Amino acid sequence: MDMNFFLPVKVIFGNGRIRELGSLVVGNRTMIVSDGVLLELGFVSEVKEEAGRTDIIEFCEVEPNPSCETVDRAAKIGREHSVDTIVAVGGGSVMDTAKAVACLMSNTGKIKDYLDGSRTFTSRKVRLICVPTTSGTGSEVTNVGVYTDKSSGVKKPMVSEFFWSDFAIVDPELTFSLPKSVTASTGLDALAHAIESYWAKSSQPVSESLAIRAIDLIMKNLRRACIDGDKESREGLSMASLLAGMAFSQTRTTILHAISFPLTNVYGVPHGFACALAMPEVLKLNYKVIGEKLDILIRYLGFEDVGEFAVAIEDLMIVGEAPRKLSEIGIREEDLDGLVDSSLSSPIAKLNPANIGRKELREIFEHILQ
Ligand code: NAD
Repeated sequence: MDMNFFLPVKVIFGNGRIRELGSLVVGNRTMIVSDGVLLELGFVSEVKEEAGRTDIIEFCEVEPNPSCETVDRAAKIGREHSVDTIVAVGGGSVMDTAKAVACLMSNTGKIKDYLDGSRTFTSRKVRLICVPTTSGTGSEVTNVGVYTDKSSGVKKPMVSEFFWSDFAIVDPELTFSLPKSVTASTGLDALAHAIESYWAKSSQPVSESLAIRAIDLIMKNLRRACIDGDKESREGLSMASLLAGMAFSQTRTTILHAISFPLTNVYGVPHGFACALAMPEVLKLNYKVIGEKLDILIRYLGFEDVGEFAVAIEDLMIVGEAPRKLSEIGIREEDLDGLVDSSLSSPIAKLNPANIGRKELREIFEHILQ
């Protein structure tokens, strides 16, 4: 068997470890990239204090599912101030923005030039420190960024060897303030990363090991984090999100993420909920093709069979108040062909173990329509 594994990020995990930020900042100018909610919650001033600098530039305008325009605006500010270190404090939207900003500072042009593939980043001189405040995307340990081109309405992932952060500070305490809806959506996103990485055609033993452990942690902690939001379950989810990110950074994701892009773009479904909508159905379909491999996971989790595992996932969706039917988000029968086409246009759809073409995806959608 041939295998590659590459993950060049120094990870610092643990409650209170945000206090180590100061020793990681380099150069004269630091820029914090964040969003308005986190600014309001006091995260930005806390991180500023930990960074131990006074001349810090703030860009706190990142919106969920960041647009190319936001990235370019932040990059302009970074370039004007010749920033040396970027600290991303936030969820996947913030971290993805910061990755692109850090790269644009060492490369000319706008993010769209790179997103549409006409150019590729050739270097990154700015230090990038990612501090996740959600437990879902794993963006702190991936070389992926996801951006929305508002002019075409397309949300697209892109990969760059310069998107790996230098440091990831994963401090579960920063997730304690997450509301239930974001806890649920981001937890289901992490579950999708782990399960898709596990079953992906591109999976390998190291990514599978990371994925199995991540799935187990999510199955044990997501319900509790949604209901009680206690320290232990938050810590479990932070670790799960990290491991799931490490797993899919090696394999990429598959059909569930391919489906999620139009669900978020066109119907406004939060990313993690969009990833989970078809999960129980796709799990059962994939079981027909890689049943033996999925049985290893199912036994590890302590379930009797794939049906029981699918029900447990549905239970998490119910607890998290995630939509379980396409009709709940306004999708009608006549919308299904368009949804099928845009889902299958994503190259990652081909990494799914069961061959899901137009006919199969239409059947899945019909099954979860009402
Ligand atoms: P998000 O970053 O969009 O944040 C969602 C909301 O939660 C925001 O309003 C934010 O202000 C709020 N929030 C964040 N932390 C909080 C906290 N501690 N307390 C209270 N509120 C808080 O959500 P996300 O799910 O982390 O990121 C989603 C984005 O990441 C999507 O664009 C998705 O496509 C992308 N993504 C990227 C990768 C990757 O590897 N780069 C992987 C998966 C998803």
